[in-house]
Formats: sequence, C-alpha cells, structure tokens
Amino acid sequence: MTYFEFTKRFPDENSAIDFIVAVKYKDGYVCPKCGCVHDKIYRQNYDRRKLYCDNCKSEFSALKGTIFENTHLDLRMWLYAINLVNVSRKGISAMQLQREMGMGSYRSAWRMLHQIRKAMENKECKETFEAIVEIDETYVGGKPRKENRHDDKDDGNKPKRGRGTSKTPVIGVKERNTGKVHAVVANYNDEGKQLSRKQLFAVFKKVCKPNTMVVTDQFSGYNILDKKNKGNFVRLKIDHTVAFSLGDGIHTNEIESFWAVLKRRVYGIFHNVSVKYMQRYVDEFCFRLNHRGEEEAFRNLVELAVK
Ligand SMILES: [Zn+2]
Repeated sequence: MTYFEFTKRFPDENSAIDFIVAVKYKDGYVCPKCGCVHDKIYRQNYDRRKLYCDNCKSEFSALKGTIFENTHLDLRMWLYAINLVNVSRKGISAMQLQREMGMGSYRSAWRMLHQIRKAMENKECKETFEAIVEIDETYVGGKPRKENRHDDKDDGNKPKRGRGTSKTPVIGVKERNTGKVHAVVANYNDEGKQLSRKQLFAVFKKVCKPNTMVVTDQFSGYNILDKKNKGNFVRLKIDHTVAFSLGDGIHTNEIESFWAVLKRRVYGIFHNVSVKYMQRYVDEFCFRLNHRGEEEAFRNLVELAVK
C-alpha cells in the first residue's frame, strides 16, 4: 500500500482498531475471563480497544496477547510500520522507520520493528518442503569480507574465514519448486558445537517431507545423509572444487544467491546485527521471500501479529 492508499483505508485510529479486531477475532470473540464465545460483542464507546462480555459482565482489552497489547501509540502507526516492512523490498532499519513516521525515539522504533519481526518467525513450515531442496550454511556478522567458505585449512597468520570463525553460522534450506527458504541460526549446542551433523540433520528433518532429495556441497557435516537415515533423505553432493554447476541440477546456487542477498542487507541496511537478534532478521528475510507477491501479505502479517 502506498501512503495515499493507507490513509484512505485507515482514516482514523478507530478504523485501525476495527481492522485489527476483525482479523484477531475472525473465528468469534472469546472472552479471556470466562471463556465464553460470542458471535457479536459489545464495544466500549469510550475506548474502542476495550470489549465487553455480557456473560461475565466484564471488559477486556481487544489487543490482549498481541504485539499491540501494551502500546500507547496510535495503532495506525503500527499498521503503517507493518505495511512498510511488508512493501520494502530490502527491509527497513529502525533509523528509517523513526524518520518515516516522525517517531520521537530511536528506541521505540527499534522495539516496534522487533515486535513485527517476531510475528514473522516461521512457525508453519513443518515438513512442507519436498522433491528437491538445497541446503547450505553461511557465516554472517562481523566485517564484510571476501568469503571462501570451504577453506578449512586456514593459514594461522591470516584472519580465519568460513567454518571456524567467530561469525554466526546460519543454516538454510531452499525448496526448488517453490523457491521458499527456511533458515536457522546455528547456535552452540550443549557440547559447545555448532554445525554438528545432528544440528544440520534436525534442520532439514523439520522442514522436509520424507524421501526428499537434498543437494549439498562436500562439507562433511552432511555425510549423515549418505547413510540410511530417518526420513529416507537422499543426498546429491556437489564438489565445488570441480565446478559450480555440472549442468545436471546438482548445485546449491539458489540457496547461495539467497545468502548473497541476506548479507548485502545485513551489511548495507542494518550495518551489523548482533548474534542475539540474528534469527529475527533471518526470519524477516525468509518471510519477505516466501510471501512475495501475495496480495494478502499485509493482512497475513497482521494476522501473525495478533496470534
Ligand atoms: Zn466473559
């Protein structure tokens, strides 16, 4: 939505509240106090954020349990921010949001964005990828520099690259048919390891249907797929030292171009992202990619925000 379209759709705050309420309670109004489900509900005239249950005679906040619950801001600002995140192709920084909406503090713009990113967290893609997927890992964070990810034998004098650096590893799976991506920051496990076979396996076990063909590079972490495995995944291995694509579809070019875009954004727009929040940025990029061109993307995002 352009700014003009937005102001037409939401001319005042009540119209924004009504939209959020309609999305949140599309399956009926459930009273959080008595659990009663109403088809129709009373709105409090003095404050449209308040609903009234005539069963238990109490009022409750229409925004309870949503990312808007504790906000004092005009709800149009929230919806407009969601709209900006949704339409911006590159993502938006807290600084840009603060400027665009004339917000007083950088901090509240930052918090608002993080709440919206939280809503973009991928909860749905459980065992949905099938046929052929690509899996790969990359390292994000720190200063941008030339990547040479498979240089496992680093010269001790040179700064380390790729595996074995202090950057944050991210594991990504891309489904060839749909182009959808699921990416997860690889945090240290209980044994202090990152990118262990178990961790890699858990990622594609979560998103892929059984019998999926998985294209990987020669990283030994994926060797677990060469054996019979839970899920009957079949590994197709490409050797980057020979060629990047043999013309037979065995390549990981698609997930690699996703990494390229992700890194450009992280370095370009967000300058740098701390490890703590990396997953949220990754979720945002995946969401944008996975829902690109969808007419109802704005509404879907509001729906996630009120869940
Ligand atoms: Zn009630």
